[in-house]
This record gives sequence, structure tokens and C-alpha cells, in this order.
Amino acid sequence: MIIHADMDAFYASVEIRERPELRNRPVAVGGSAEGRGVIAAASYTARKFGVRSAMPTSTALKRCPDLVLLPVHMSLYAEASRQIHAIFARYTPLIEPLSLDEAFLDVGASERLFGSAVIIARRIKQEVHEELELVVSMGVAPNKFLAKIASDLDKPDGFVEVAVDRVQAFLDPLPVSRLWGVGRVTGATLQKQGIHTIADLRRQPQAALRRWFGKHGQQLWHLAHGIDKRPVVAEHEAKSISHETTFARDIADPETLRAVLLGLTEQVAWRLRRHGKCGRTVQLKLRFDDFRTVTRARSLRDATDATQIIWHTASRLLDRELAQGIPPLRLLGMGVSGFDEGADSRQSDLFASAATEGEAVDRIADDINTRFGGKMLQRARSYHKGR
Ligand SMILES: [Mg+2]
Repeated sequence: MIIHADMDAFYASVEIRERPELRNRPVAVGGSAEGRGVIAAASYTARKFGVRSAMPTSTALKRCPDLVLLPVHMSLYAEASRQIHAIFARYTPLIEPLSLDEAFLDVGASERLFGSAVIIARRIKQEVHEELELVVSMGVAPNKFLAKIASDLDKPDGFVEVAVDRVQAFLDPLPVSRLWGVGRVTGATLQKQGIHTIADLRRQPQAALRRWFGKHGQQLWHLAHGIDKRPVVAEHEAKSISHETTFARDIADPETLRAVLLGLTEQVAWRLRRHGKCGRTVQLKLRFDDFRTVTRARSLRDATDATQIIWHTASRLLDRELAQGIPPLRLLGMGVSGFDEGADSRQSDLFASAATEGEAVDRIADDINTRFGGKMLQRARSYHKGR
């Protein structure tokens, strides 16, 4: 069985834990409105006012004038993320993080030792709460796709199990928009055919879906039947480290996209350093509102794990696309691959010692502390012009 663990309003929750007086206030973490920043995370109280992540901070403040806006402290969230992973690792080595606050866990081989996946997920949830004072929502299911839907269904503080013999009963009543890859355009086509729920979709012949959506239709058919064969890939075995964000609404604004890309870059660079990896290739993934997906990559002369260098490369790739006039984006992703094996082994040796781990944390703090859509963007931009 697979567990999908997803922290609730992660950045905001970590901030509130540090300042309990903010507990019932609308809190968001993000860049300033003056700096054309965006919201990186919003507490559930703030969400009641319509504040969402990837929303321009100026819009968020209009919707919620009492919003407590805090700058991003990436080092603080990175430390919390490390602690959460240490709890996961008590139960399985097969952990595939999707970001600082989200991961898949394959507990198939751990069940004999610790009890069922549900028992393991309950224990992890409890330990995260007791030891870290943070809340994680859990989805427990036979595969990644189902576990991810499950963790989201009952948020915040969710716990949803999809038993092997309940897969179809679980999926059928859900709207098709729950499926990976059903955005505005695909959704509209389905609506026109009278397809609203996953049960409606499941009743379509595979051929019809292929006719409407091509290869993507084939995938939709599989998902509607609860089929997803992708394994959980532990991060130290991964050939690349990447992160992506799917937007609630398609985004065209270049400043917002750049700020989101910076947030992704910070997370990916942090994960590279955490695993002592240096990569040579920076890749961008763009999915448009019509569901077309393109990737753009650029290779560096030297492998790196430095936020600044990766950001410089990634933002230039994005700028080039924006300059060509692209449609609004449904998804933005970035990753680093082409790991330098020499640097890798050298760094993991160093990384093993406690002193170096402290150094690494300092370095993260130096690199990226409190910058999200603010100073660092401006600095990167002036750096651009200087070249
Ligand atoms: Mg989360």
C-alpha cells in the first residue's frame, strides 16, 4: 500500500507554531504587495477569505485586509521538513518527496513489521503532531494516484483510506476534475459529452476517450479505473529532483509565474543540497491551458546545487518562453538532473558528519532566507542586465 502524506498549510502552519498568538488569525506567507510578490501558503483561516497560494499578494490583501503577511523563512520550513522525513524514515526507506511538505511512502514491505498501512499512517500522523506540533493529512491507498486524491479529500487534518476492494466505489462519485490532467479544456470537452463524474468517464469506451484526447485519453481511462502502476522512487535513487505546481486557475501574469518558479527553485535546490547532489541540467516544464505540455532544458558547464545559479538558468528559460507569447499556464514545474557522480559521493561523505549538516543548514539560511518574489527576484533581474 502507498501512503500520501501532505502537510496542511505547511509554511503558514510552521509560522503559527512559532507564534501561537497568530493561531486564529488569517495568516499567509509570501512576498510583499509592493514587491509584486505572491502568496506561497495561506492558513485555513485566511483561505476562508479566498486567499490562495500563487495568488498575487495585492489580491490577497484586497480579499482579506486583516491578513497577517509573513516573509518566507525557507530555512525554518526546511528544518521542519527534515524532521518530518525522519519520522517517515522510521517506517520505510521508500520515500518519494514531491516538495518540502508532501511525499509518497511505499510501506508494502513494512507492514509485517509495523502492522497495516493504516496503522503506520495513523502512527506517523500522531508522531508528527506530538513531536512537531504540525498536522499532516494522510491518504492510504493501493497506488500513488489514489493515495494523492485520498489525502486531499478530507483536508485539513484528513485521514482517508481506500481499501483495495473499495477503489471503484471511492472513485465513482468524484467529479472528473479530481483526475490528474483534467483541467479547464479537458473538463469542458467532457461536460459537453455529459461526463461529470468519474463513473460517467469509466463507462466510456477506451476508443472514445482516445478519439477525444489522444494518448492522454488512454491515461484518463486508466485513472478512471483506479489503475496507476508508477512505483515510489526513493529520492537518493532518483535521476532528477524536480517539483511542480498545478494552479487552481490558469496563470498568464509573468511576475506571478516568475515568483512561483522561484519558490520551486528554492525547494529543488534545498533538496539537492540535502542529498549532496549537484546537477548539470536545469529543466522547465510548462503545461498550457489546452493541456499541451512542453519541456525546456539548459545544461550548465559545471554541476551545481546553488540556488542562485539554478534560478538564473531557470528564470532565463522561462523568460524566453514568455517573450514568445505563450498561452496561460495550468502547471509550472522545474527540476535539476545530470548529477555529477564525483561531487555526489564526495558531498555525501561530508554530509554524513553532524558538523557539516549544521553548515548545510546555515548555507540554506544564507542562500534563501526570507526571499520569495522579493529581493531575490530583483537581484536576479539586475544580474541579468549586468551580463
Ligand atoms: Mg501541503
